[in-house]
Amino acid sequence: MGAKPERIFLSSPHMGSAEQLFINDAFDTNWIAPVGPHLTKFEEEVAAYSGTKGAVAVTSGTAAIHLALRALGIGPGDVVFCSSFTFVASANPILYQGAKPVFIDSEPESWNMSPKALKRALEEAEKSGQLPKAIVAVNLYGQSADYDELKKICEPYQVPIVEDAAESLGATYKGKASGTFGEFGIFSFNGNKIITTSNGGMIVSDNMDALQKIRFWSTQAKDIAKYYQHSETGYNYRLSNVLAGIGRGQLMVLDDRVEARRRVFNRYQEAFSGLRGIHFMPETQHGRSTRWLTALTLDSSVITAPPEKIIEALEVQNIETRRLWKPMHRQPLYAHCDYYPHDEQTSVCDSLFASGICLPSGSNLTPSQQNKVIDALLPFFVQC
Ligand SMILES: *Cc1c(COP(=O)(O)O)cnc(C)c1O
Repeated sequence: MGAKPERIFLSSPHMGSAEQLFINDAFDTNWIAPVGPHLTKFEEEVAAYSGTKGAVAVTSGTAAIHLALRALGIGPGDVVFCSSFTFVASANPILYQGAKPVFIDSEPESWNMSPKALKRALEEAEKSGQLPKAIVAVNLYGQSADYDELKKICEPYQVPIVEDAAESLGATYKGKASGTFGEFGIFSFNGNKIITTSNGGMIVSDNMDALQKIRFWSTQAKDIAKYYQHSETGYNYRLSNVLAGIGRGQLMVLDDRVEARRRVFNRYQEAFSGLRGIHFMPETQHGRSTRWLTALTLDSSVITAPPEKIIEALEVQNIETRRLWKPMHRQPLYAHCDYYPHDEQTSVCDSLFASGICLPSGSNLTPSQQNKVIDALLPFFVQC
């Protein structure tokens, strides 16, 4: 019996050389408590990287979205539009605030929020007197949504955007950093993201008053008083100084990580270039993706094995692949919510879910590991 081959992960943490030094410094100076010098520096450095006035570091991307929605005054009974094609963490904070999500389809060009569907949804919402109080727009698999288009559509209705850039830190849209196109942008430093603090998140914005309020809520909403006094509900959402140290080290290698992931993508694309029925996630003219995950769709009229079968076959070889996100309007949790497809006949995200897979894409994926993935996939594919 041979030993099980070494596992090849979809996206695994990839430390640089400075993280351990920052952690050691936190230990040496005994800054283990949540707040400390690395936390402040990490916020300043992410704000500088993104080109925003400020940033607040929190325990997760989910917490970041929650705080952004609260800062926008979202409360019970409010409507919030959200991309349907995303991870559930984009939408759950809408429920935390007691608000009602309405889901918007993707466009085929970027797989992100469809301007066409958004326009129709806003027109209908205005007619029924239920305009959304915010929009959560998601940048999937490392690529920015088309913000010029989305913002043009939102403008007449004065609806603010929360940019869920959890998967797109390091990407650009028209030369400007991802995460800077809404009232608030949020990043995630979960273990599978492009850089990680094991768990962590960040809110970036130019609205310094709102960021101050967010920082206040994230540390239990302690009033300025000589004792523990509270006038508002707070949360225990602040990132720790130790984890912020990891984040500072990771930020130093972010651009290298982007290049590495793009190289992984290009290698898959080359390896499968002579084959039929494979469509890689398109990269739009207006942006530069991080290619956080290499995502592709398979044409079922050419490739007979469904995504699930391919994923199972690779799992036997200890290779981790995944389906694309199951749309939120298909989730039992959100099945009762309204949904606006790209047009009356086409639901783009439903077809992406039905036909797509993500491949191992870590910045630390070695060429020989990637060859194993490619070799495992080839038997399913068809020559031109
Ligand atoms: C990972 C992710 C989040 C949540 O971030 P956490 O740090 O895991 O809470 C939110 N939205 C999207 C699109 C994500 O991929």
